[in-house]
Amino acid sequence: MRIVLLGPPGAGKGTQARRLADRYGLAVIGTGDIFRDHVARGTPLGREAKAYMDRGEYVPDRIAVEMVLARLDQPDAREGFILDGFPRTVPQAQALERALTEAGRPLDAVLNFKISDEMAVKRLTSRLVCPNCKRVYNLSFKPPRVEGTCDVCGHELQLRNDDDEATILRRLDVYRTQTEPLVLYFWERGLLRDIDAEAPEEVVADRTIEAISDLSDLEA
Ligand SMILES: [Zn+2]
Repeated sequence: MRIVLLGPPGAGKGTQARRLADRYGLAVIGTGDIFRDHVARGTPLGREAKAYMDRGEYVPDRIAVEMVLARLDQPDAREGFILDGFPRTVPQAQALERALTEAGRPLDAVLNFKISDEMAVKRLTSRLVCPNCKRVYNLSFKPPRVEGTCDVCGHELQLRNDDDEATILRRLDVYRTQTEPLVLYFWERGLLRDIDAEAPEEVVADRTIEAISDLSDLEA
């Protein structure tokens, strides 16, 4: 299964990505991690990317695409992958599609997690994060079983209220401006599947599985 996830901050995309990965044995590929890895290892792509970042410039699509494609060749991504946070622009999507088609591994679906701005703000202002295993909780929607403690590793949780409402609304606005052409692009290709993400994590997980049930049948 080869999937791209779209969705604004607060849509619970990261959580759903992890659940899908566990269920279907897919690699979750986040571009932030790939970037940091290349820079840390000092690869040619990493050095090139760092030069742009040091100048305060955006890293060009070409470099981002190359990094992602190299990552998709790793053994853990052979059975399938979930791309989270990439592509962000239509040119990136075109480059990705071209490369995957050439490799005989075209995308199966693009899952578009949808929530209202109001709900996104509500979620993003009440987040708790585990500094140890990075699991995210939410005081209003997904509280930990024991107050202030990570369900998985038992570490003490930290409140993540680093963003105020105005900042969050600005991020949501940037997301929509940037992503709307991408949504249209994938819709035109018959790949887009909308998922109503304004529900508790378990419910959204069920909707997600339902949305790709035809794909998992193919794999079975
Ligand atoms: Zn933890």
